[in-house]
Amino acid sequence: MSFNALGLAEPISRALSEAGYTTPTPIQQQAIPVVLSGRDLIGIAQTGTGKTAAFALPILNKLAAAPKPLTPKSARVLVLSPTRELSGQIVESFTTYGKHLRLSVRLAIGGVPIRKQIRNLSGGVDVLVATPGRLLDLAKSRAVRLDEVEYLVLDEADRMLDMGFIHDIRRLIAMLPKDRQTLFFSATMPPEIARLAGEMLTDPAQVSV
Ligand code: AMP
Repeated sequence: MSFNALGLAEPISRALSEAGYTTPTPIQQQAIPVVLSGRDLIGIAQTGTGKTAAFALPILNKLAAAPKPLTPKSARVLVLSPTRELSGQIVESFTTYGKHLRLSVRLAIGGVPIRKQIRNLSGGVDVLVATPGRLLDLAKSRAVRLDEVEYLVLDEADRMLDMGFIHDIRRLIAMLPKDRQTLFFSATMPPEIARLAGEMLTDPAQVSV
């Protein structure tokens, strides 16, 4: 199977060939059609399987198909990730795959000065990748508003729970519109994670590799 067969827009498949990608990985083959169809998704996959592109590619495709002026301080896509390193890699992936689209991709992580992040978010962003604690601080200080989020991704949900982010995540989710598409990725699915997924997702499709 090729990326073209998955129905991705030309600027995205061009960025993929430039990055040297020829064939979608199994998680990408399974997840991309589900996300493009608009359904919520549970993806059980480890790092290294290509899971970042499995959510980034169809989300970029959807943004490109429905361009929208940005509301100040808002985000169209919110990706929550457990660590600064992973968040940085996710931003790189969106930037690489979206290089031929005019979209803004921003990072909001702890451990760096918050002022620059507040400035970066002031005009609104297409894709915001954040760790839960810093995002909650930004939301509380009204530097970001989450009421226009169309796509929510939880990446490495099991690790976020292990790291004690569950309360922050619940508070953030309460700020999001109910009418959104949610993609939930985890390497494992113990009962506590399954319960969280059940609360956050509507009639999800499940894929695993
Ligand atoms: P991830 O599991 O998202 O951390 O991705 C693991 C690595 O695989 C990253 O370095 C990606 O750039 C690379 N990658 C993801 N999808 C593909 C693909 N379809 N073809 C080649 N490399 C890929």
